[in-house]
Amino acid sequence: MTQDVFDLFIIGAGSGGVRAARMAGQRGVRVAIAEDAALGGTCVNVGCIPKKLYSFAAHYAESFAEAAGFGWSHAAPQFDWQTLKANRAGEISRLNAIYADLLAGAGVTLLRGRARVVGAHEVEVGGDVYGAERIVIATGGWPVAPEIAGGELAISSNEIFDLAEFPKHLVVVGGGYIACEFASIFNGLGSRVTQLYRGEQILRGFDDEVRDFVAAEMKKTGVDIRVQAKVAALERQSAATPIRVILGDGESLSADTVLYATGRVPNTAGLGLEALGVELAPNGAVVVDAGYRSSLPSLYAIGDVIDRVQLTPVALAEAMALVDGLFGPGGRQVDYAHIPTVVFTHPNIGTIGFSEQDARARFEKIRVYRSDFKPLRHTLSGSSERTLMKLVVDDASDRVVGLHMVGADAGETIQGFAVAMKAGATKATFDATLGIHPTAAEEFVTMRTPVVAS
Ligand code: FAD
Ligand code: NDP
Repeated sequence: MTQDVFDLFIIGAGSGGVRAARMAGQRGVRVAIAEDAALGGTCVNVGCIPKKLYSFAAHYAESFAEAAGFGWSHAAPQFDWQTLKANRAGEISRLNAIYADLLAGAGVTLLRGRARVVGAHEVEVGGDVYGAERIVIATGGWPVAPEIAGGELAISSNEIFDLAEFPKHLVVVGGGYIACEFASIFNGLGSRVTQLYRGEQILRGFDDEVRDFVAAEMKKTGVDIRVQAKVAALERQSAATPIRVILGDGESLSADTVLYATGRVPNTAGLGLEALGVELAPNGAVVVDAGYRSSLPSLYAIGDVIDRVQLTPVALAEAMALVDGLFGPGGRQVDYAHIPTVVFTHPNIGTIGFSEQDARARFEKIRVYRSDFKPLRHTLSGSSERTLMKLVVDDASDRVVGLHMVGADAGETIQGFAVAMKAGATKATFDATLGIHPTAAEEFVTMRTPVVAS
C-alpha cells in the first residue's frame, strides 16, 4: 500500500546519504531516508572511525617502546582486546545516536529496513511503498573476495573489528588501503602478521618510491610482507584448529584469522535498478552524469555506489553538490583533482596529486625534491623509523603537482598543504614560506635542490 510521498527519498544512511538528507531537510525539502543497518554507514561503523581508533591503540605499542629513551620506565604493558572492542562499540553507539538526532533535527523521516526501488517514483521499505519525486541511491560498497576453495573461512573488514578472540597470527590478503592499514594495526596490537600481495609491490597506484619506502618501514615494524604471493586455498580441520593458508607455490602458512581485503564493489544488488533499466557499470556501479543523475531521470546516485573515489569526504562533497544542484543555487562542483588521501599504515602515508611516475607521463619536464631523514624524536627513542617527503613540480609552471609523505602523523601534516596546492602553490611559494622549527613538516618548505630534473 502506498504511504507518504516525499520530495527526496534517499536509500542508505551512510556518509553521503545522511549529508544529503540533512542538507535537503534544512532547506525545507520533504526528505525520507531508508537504512537497514546502523546509522552512519561504513565510515562510522566498520570503516574510518573504528579503524582510526584501533590505529591509535596500536600506536601506543610504539610509544611504550620508545618511552625508555626519554627516561620513562614502566611495567611491561598489557593489551586487552575485549576492552578496546567494548570502548569502540560504546563510542560508535554514541555516534549512531548523534546521527539519529541530526536527521530528526533536520526534519528527515527515517525508515528502518531494506529499501528497493519499485518504480521511477516509488520505493518499497518493509512492505510499504512510498512515493518520491526524486530518489537518491547512496548504498555504498561491499567487500569482495576471489572465489577459492575454503574461502568461507576468511573474513572481511566488516568482521575484523569484533573478532571474539584476538588473533595471534593474522594473514592479510591484499595490498590496498585496507590490507595495509589492518596489517599495521594488528601488528602494532601484538599479532604476528603476514601480508600476502599478488603483485610486485603493495599499494599499486601510489608513488613508486612511497610504496617501496612504506613497505620497508612496515617490514621493520614486523609485518611479514610477501609479494607475488597468491592464495590457492584455505583449509581447516575443525573450528578448534588454525586455518591453513595454501599458497600458489605449494608453501603453506598457519593462521587464526585470514582477512581478505581485495577491494569493494558498489552495493546495488537487489535494489531493483536493472528492472527499471537504470544503466549500471559492469561492476554494478550506478552510471551518473556530472549532476549525479542516472539514466532514469528521477534517480540519482552518490558516494561509493558510483565508484569514482571511495573516500568519505568525496561522498560528502557529492552529497552537497547534488542537494545544491537540486534545491539550492547550483554551481557547486566536486573537484576530483588533487584529492588528499592518507593510508593509516604505521607510519602513515599522506599523498596529494600526482605520483612521480604519473607526473612524468603528464608533464613535459618535472623536478622532484625529496628528503629522507630520521625524525628528531627518534634520536632518543631508539626507533629506526625514517620519514620520506617528496615534492613533484611541473617545471614549466613551477606548480607543485605532487606531494607525498611517509611518516608519523602524515595525515595531520598534509591537510594544510592540500589547501596550498588547491590554491595553485608554486615551488617558489613553498620556498618563500618559513618553516616551523623544529618539526618534520618544515622539510616541505626547505627542500632546495631537485634530485631529478628531467
Ligand atoms: P556507506 O557509508 O557505505 O553507506 C551506505 C549505507 O547504505 C550503509 O549504511 C548501508 O547499510 C546502507 N544500505 C545499503 N543498501 C541498502 C538498502 N537496500 N536499503 C537500506 N539501506 C541500505 N574513507 C576515508 O575517507 N578515510 C578512511 O580512513 C577510510 N577508512 C575506511 C576503512 C574501511 C575498513 C573501509 C571499508 C572504508 C574506509 N573508508 C575510508 C571509505 C569510506 O568508508 C567510504 O568511502 C564511505 O563510507 C562511503 O560513503 P557512502 O555514503 O557512499 O556509503
Ligand atoms: P583497494 O582497491 O585499495 O585494494 C584492493 C587490493 O586487493 C589491491 O592490492 C588488489 O591488488 C588486491 N586484489 C584485488 N583483487 C584480488 C584478487 N582476486 N586476488 C588477490 N588480490 C586482489 O581496496 P580496499 O579493499 O583495500 O579498499 C577499498 C577502498 O576503500 C579503497 O580503495 C579506498 O578508497 C577506501 N579506503 C580508504 C581508506 C583511507 O582513506 N585511509 C582506508 C580503507 C579503505 P592489485 O593492486 O594487484 O589490483
